[in-house]
Amino acid sequence: MTWSVWLVPPMLTSIFFVLGVITLYWSIFNWATSKAESQNKPVNVKRVQTIVGLVCAVTSVFALQLIVRDSHLSWTFTNFQLLLLIFVAYFLQVRIPYWAVFVAGIAFMLLNGNVDQPLSWGYTFLFVIFYEVSYVQSTHLWRAPFTRYAIVAMAFALPLWYIVKLRFQLPWSTYLDEMINYLILVVLMYGYFKIQDKDRRIKDRLFQSANWDALTKVQNFAAYDRAIGYEFRQSAAHDRDLSMVMFDIDHFKHVNDTYGHLAGDEVLKQVAKTVTNTLKASDSKIVLYRTGGEEFNIIFPNYTVDETEKIAQKVFDAVKDLTIAYNDVAIKVTISVGVSALSLKDSNPLDFYKRVDANLYRSKQNGRQQITVG
Ligand code: GH3
Ligand code: MG
Ligand code: MG
Repeated sequence: MTWSVWLVPPMLTSIFFVLGVITLYWSIFNWATSKAESQNKPVNVKRVQTIVGLVCAVTSVFALQLIVRDSHLSWTFTNFQLLLLIFVAYFLQVRIPYWAVFVAGIAFMLLNGNVDQPLSWGYTFLFVIFYEVSYVQSTHLWRAPFTRYAIVAMAFALPLWYIVKLRFQLPWSTYLDEMINYLILVVLMYGYFKIQDKDRRIKDRLFQSANWDALTKVQNFAAYDRAIGYEFRQSAAHDRDLSMVMFDIDHFKHVNDTYGHLAGDEVLKQVAKTVTNTLKASDSKIVLYRTGGEEFNIIFPNYTVDETEKIAQKVFDAVKDLTIAYNDVAIKVTISVGVSALSLKDSNPLDFYKRVDANLYRSKQNGRQQITVG
């Protein structure tokens, strides 16, 4: 097939181009977040969104413009510019300072060789305001969002296209055609983005409930299992330290039997919260996992057993000092703790786990409320 028989109507090309850019964005975004999640790294969704979105938008706008610059058709991709502006500012809510949008506008004029055109400057100014208004609108929960979205999109496109019309002396029929195409694409983009975003939210929720414990709001056994596998491999491959703490609440059955199961739940929540705060104060990279009913594990990447023991002691003290108020009673609990470091003899994460668990068992055997290191 050659260029001359490429007889696809411009409108159809536009639709597939716009949907293509959004799809490309979602694919890269999902790939990047899934990769981070599978390695058990924390994902900053907003940052991934900003980087991937900007790269997709800027690349497509500049790449397209390179095809037509210096020709009488250099206005051809105006709609794409406007739609990508909406995509980045309104849908991705990327907070770009207005001066940076302005700098991008000037770069764009340089690319086009029209910095000497007053009309181009007018266009750039309006473009920057359009960005700001789209961004502000998207970050406010106003009523009738779709109507507002469409009105703002049109309110800026009409004068922007009018400037283009003046500069390239386009007939009114072209102006009208372009506005109709633009309106269709604006509506289409809204629908398509909302569908994709809904999918993303469902995926987020599933990921959340699969890895986080609903009661204590800390990560669960599934997350622990993945994390220890990852850290075990990392430590073995790079010859790095790795330690682990495991603790179990003492006489927890007694709490349930005396004050009721709901009181027991409250104890679990408060203990998890206290331990999380204690760990955060020492090192925000250490994570607490609820691995059983009232059993918890803490993984310490790059920690020797002595360094870990110090933090285990802080955790132990924090729980001992904690008083849980439930209805009118004040409940006190203690924990038994096991600590150990990865050894060359461990051939898999379970060997390591068993040793930590054995130390916890020894703490219990020796009368509870103590830490066993070994
Ligand atoms: P020990 O000092 O030997 O650890 O004694 P214990 O009473 O804590 O013994 P054990 O570990 O066998 O008991 C754990 C109890 O924790 C049994 C179970 O009913 C209770 N439990 C497990 N999950 C939950 C939960 O989500 N909520 C409440 N309220 N209780 C739970
Ligand atoms: Mg217990
Ligand atoms: Mg137990």
